[in-house]
Amino acid sequence: MSNWHQHIDWLNVTFIIFVPLIGLASAYMYPAHLYTIIFAVVYYFNAGLGITAGYHRLWAHSSYKATLPLKIYLAACGLGAAQGSIRWWSRGHRAHHRYTDTDKDPYSVKKGFWYSHLGWMVMKQNPKRIGRSDITDLNEDAVVVWQHRHYIPGVLLMALVLPTVVCGLGWGDWRGGFIYAGVLRASFIQQATFCVNSLAHWLGEQPFDDRNSPRDHVVTALVTLGEGYHNFHHEFPSDYRNAIQWWQYDPTKWAIWTWKQLGLASELKQFRHNEIEKGRVQQLQKKLDEKRAALDWGVPIADLPVISWDDFVEQARDQGRALTAISGVVHDVAGFIGEHPGGKALISSFVGKDATAVFNGGVYEHSNAAHNLLSTMRVGVIRGGGEVEIWKTGAEEKAKLGAATS
Ligand SMILES: [Zn+2]
Ligand SMILES: [Zn+2]
Repeated sequence: MSNWHQHIDWLNVTFIIFVPLIGLASAYMYPAHLYTIIFAVVYYFNAGLGITAGYHRLWAHSSYKATLPLKIYLAACGLGAAQGSIRWWSRGHRAHHRYTDTDKDPYSVKKGFWYSHLGWMVMKQNPKRIGRSDITDLNEDAVVVWQHRHYIPGVLLMALVLPTVVCGLGWGDWRGGFIYAGVLRASFIQQATFCVNSLAHWLGEQPFDDRNSPRDHVVTALVTLGEGYHNFHHEFPSDYRNAIQWWQYDPTKWAIWTWKQLGLASELKQFRHNEIEKGRVQQLQKKLDEKRAALDWGVPIADLPVISWDDFVEQARDQGRALTAISGVVHDVAGFIGEHPGGKALISSFVGKDATAVFNGGVYEHSNAAHNLLSTMRVGVIRGGGEVEIWKTGAEEKAKLGAATS
């Protein structure tokens, strides 16, 4: 505890905590110009797309191909979001997908919500601890290499200088451009992206797989330009979509689709509907199985003791147990005789006897609920199936005789 300050990454703390706080304080003292706010929002969406459509879906996951002009636009906008270079960001993100929720996941939510949100950047990381990921494709991408090499001047230019100059030359709001369109806008995008690592692993549903932490939630999607359908994304990471329904909020998907129509993007990867539905059905089945397992369905037939027909009759008649046989299974109906909707007399008259035929429609076609209730009363299995078995063997003998004589 005495040397805690040595474990803090002060450069990151400056850029993700101190600078935003100074930005907020300045905003309090310096009211916003309307044009500056409009520009900040527009630039927010562009820089956000640099991260979601560029860093994330294009470079980290190769979910589509982009032409050079689109790549340059995305790499430049990504600098405006001040989240590190494409190369650094994608390397960590690939490790996150490969080692989700483990110690090798750079922002594992298992270490707590705040760790996954920004703790992982506040504390110094041992780079050897983070899982390996292959980035040979990125090292061959000229735009990625150039951006990584010129990251510091690039981020200063795109995140701070450009918005200041636009607002300054445009409508004379130099200071507002720096505070609102520069510092605060970049800070908001940082927080939004951090939400994918924290909120999207913490809040929402898991329609495709619940073995790991990623979740789908519209709130996360709203703050992250559509990256909130994170359970789907971790299952189908190379799909250019995060939301698969048309009514779900995924502006990043809409942008990529529009670029395709304009000839700027191609080879949009998409998993087959059949594969996606298989995952969804398996998860539904898993939930259903869990619900089913929580209910009392009676002792499984395989676990019941086997008794002979004569033993069954003797226990019922001589020992006074309220046993009745149905479909070769012995049921103890003692606690149910008084509650039998068809009356006490009828059920009592079948104690020590085989009630298969009357139960299955001979007297009354019992409901599914009755069948379920009956199975909770089973206590044994009759060796050879009891009386039913005798009829069956009788029928088999007849069939054999018939075959022999013809
Ligand atoms: Zn994730
Ligand atoms: Zn991803």
